[in-house]
Amino acid sequence: MAHSNPHIEPGAYTGRFAPSPTGPLHFGSLIAALASFLDARANQGVWLVRMEDLDPPREPEGAAQQILDQLQHLQLHWDGEVLYQSQRHAAYEAAISKLAKQQLCYECSCTRQDIREMGLVYDGRCRNTSHPHDTQTALRVVTNNNPCQIDDLIQGNVCQNVQQEVGDFVIQRKDGFFAYQLAVVVDDAYQGITHIVRGYDLIDSTPRQLYLQQIMGYPTPSYAHIPVIVNAEGQKLSKQRFAAAIDTDMGAKLILEALKFLGQQPPENLLGATISDLLEWGIAHWDIQSVPKLANIPELTI
Ligand code: GLU
Repeated sequence: MAHSNPHIEPGAYTGRFAPSPTGPLHFGSLIAALASFLDARANQGVWLVRMEDLDPPREPEGAAQQILDQLQHLQLHWDGEVLYQSQRHAAYEAAISKLAKQQLCYECSCTRQDIREMGLVYDGRCRNTSHPHDTQTALRVVTNNNPCQIDDLIQGNVCQNVQQEVGDFVIQRKDGFFAYQLAVVVDDAYQGITHIVRGYDLIDSTPRQLYLQQIMGYPTPSYAHIPVIVNAEGQKLSKQRFAAAIDTDMGAKLILEALKFLGQQPPENLLGATISDLLEWGIAHWDIQSVPKLANIPELTI
C-alpha cells in the first residue's frame, strides 16, 4: 500500500530505504529508515523502499514482508512499488556486460587466504590472466589510482583511494550472486535516487560506489551517513548479533527514541503522542545538521 504526496516535484528529491531482508527491522535499522524518510519528506521528496534480497541463503522466509509490515505499522509509508533486487538480475548482467566490453572487469580465482596474505587490499594479480568463468572465480572491477572524494552531509569530507585502500573489488561473487556494490549502484541510478541517507557502517563502501557510478556514467547522489547504534560492547547492532527485533506495538515510543538518537529535540509534550503526531513533528522540525556524527546512547531507555 503506497502513500503518495501530491506536492512532490518529480526529480527534485528521491530518497530510499534499502534494507537487506536478513531478519526483521531492529532499532538500528529503524533509525536508518526514519532518517531517510524524514529527510525525504522534509524536502517534499519521494521516498522509495528497495528490498536488497541479493543473498537468498541469508534471508529467512518472510523477512522481507515482515520489514514492510513493520514500516507500515510505524506509518513510514513509501511511494510507488517496492523494488526487489531479486527481480533485477537482467539489469546487473547488462551492467557487467558493459563493463566487460570496456575491459573493466575480470575473473579472479584468488582464495580468501590469498587475499588475507595480501593484507586484505586486492593487488590485482588476476588482472592479466584469463581465467574462464566458473564457480571458483569471482568477477572484479578494475579500479584506478584517483582518489574518490565524498562531501557527506553529516560526516563531512571523506576521501579514499580505492585502488590503494581496497583494490579491484568484487562485483559478482564466486557463488554467482551479484555483489551489493554493483546492485546498489545500478539500482540507485535506475530509481533516480538523488539523496542517500543511511548508516555510517556503509561509509567505507561509498567511494567504491562513486567509482562505479563514474565508470558506468551514472550521476552521483548526495550522501549523509547517520551514526550507527552500538551495543554495550561497542558492536554494531545487527540482526546477526541478535539485536532485539523491534516491537511495533511500542511504535510511538520507538519513533520518539529514534528522533532523540538522531539529535532532534522533540518537546516534552510529545511524550505519549501518536505515531502520526510524532512523524508530523519530525518532518516539520527535521534538521540534518543536528544529527550527531557518532552515536550517543547513554540516554536510550529501550
Ligand atoms: N542493504 C544494505 C543494508 O541493509 C543497505 C544499502 C544502502 O543503504 O545502501 O545494510
